[in-house]
Amino acid sequence: MHILLLGSGGREHALAWKIAASPLVTKLWCAPGNAGIAREAECVALDVANHAAVIDFCKQNDVELVVVGPETPLAAGIVDDLAKVGIKAFGPGKEAAQLEGSKGFTKDLCAEFDIPTGAYRRFNNAADALRYVRAQGAPIVVKADGLAAGKGVVVAKTLTEAEAAIATMFDGAFGAAGAEVVIEEYLAGREISFFALCDGESAIPLASAQDHKRVFDHDEGPNTGGMGAYSPTPFVTAEVHDQIMSRIILPTVAGMKQRGMPFRGVLYAGVMLTEDGPKLFEYNVRFGDPECQVLMLRMMSDIVPAFLAACDGELKHFDLRWYAEPALTVVMAAKGYPGDYRKGTRIDGLDDAAKVEGVEIFHAGTVAKDGVILANGGRVLNICAMGKTVSEAQARAYEAIDRIKWPDGFCRRDIAWQAVEAEKAN
Ligand code: AMP
Repeated sequence: MHILLLGSGGREHALAWKIAASPLVTKLWCAPGNAGIAREAECVALDVANHAAVIDFCKQNDVELVVVGPETPLAAGIVDDLAKVGIKAFGPGKEAAQLEGSKGFTKDLCAEFDIPTGAYRRFNNAADALRYVRAQGAPIVVKADGLAAGKGVVVAKTLTEAEAAIATMFDGAFGAAGAEVVIEEYLAGREISFFALCDGESAIPLASAQDHKRVFDHDEGPNTGGMGAYSPTPFVTAEVHDQIMSRIILPTVAGMKQRGMPFRGVLYAGVMLTEDGPKLFEYNVRFGDPECQVLMLRMMSDIVPAFLAACDGELKHFDLRWYAEPALTVVMAAKGYPGDYRKGTRIDGLDDAAKVEGVEIFHAGTVAKDGVILANGGRVLNICAMGKTVSEAQARAYEAIDRIKWPDGFCRRDIAWQAVEAEKAN
């Protein structure tokens, strides 16, 4: 098969690595890709926002399957545009992508189909939103309705913070994404990520994972796109798993079908394990980054037939196999991230780091110049490792990191601390 992967981050490097391992694949391209992806696929300088250019490329190169990594092309309807000309693409169409593209849409779906989530209201003006938060009190969560690159959510501990968030959002800080605001009940509990592969009718769960959103150790500092992840998480017990499937994932797939916008692709549920059971706080319509990296390491099955089954509505009798060993990934980011940071700084020692047993390095934001790897983004590298235990995987990842010479980079030193503590307690 000829396959085209869209995207350029660590998630896409992991997907490229897994797709390239499939015996079904004769040729893999990635647009636009990065220096690490170039080891697995031929990188092409296509503008992914230009759907006509993507379609032309697919036609010229007999591409039979397009795999879409990030949410922006999904929300822009690339899967629909490819389908119109008969090209199969893995991911939801534009209407189904609203599960990520509009928080209000998802909350309304939850209300209609009785999916457990926090109480909420939607607002299109600041005055009404302010009146509502003052009546509700803090803590409370203020969310821009649309896509805001993970920055449109403010978990306000005080009323003042909530009021400020409402003012910023309606002042246009997130452009059109903040023209509408959702105010949501604060959910206390442990946060986990749950992934399911969906074909419009049925869904099969992927392995559980947990990411680390805050930039510094001990979950301090501002939120980021994700500083590390591990899989499986000990907190998704068999019971929790079944509750999430039966009360959240399957009703969502059924609801979307009923609405005439069947969901095909990866459904990524942000779930809070509360005292009253699991509650959904958000959906994403693609693999998480960096959770995808640990899922790909743990997936034993060939991923290409799974993508095809999801596209073709044939997941019902499909089965995925996983390695039992845990996997972990540590994100190395440019100093200053998630604020301002420098690009173009030199990274050495990657080959030496990759020699540590059980270690796999995925690139998130790199370019190669004259044989040297340079940082080219905020999140730059994913140092992944597997081990017999989470503690072993963690030790291996940090051993590899200590071999990397990148004075302008940093990482958290405590990725998977919850699972490591749980292992020590047993
Ligand atoms: P999101 O950008 O939707 O992933 O939200 C960012 C973070 O805000 C999440 O990872 C959660 O930690 C937190 N969050 C979102 N919604 C809620 C909620 N209703 N209650 C508590 N925390 C929340």
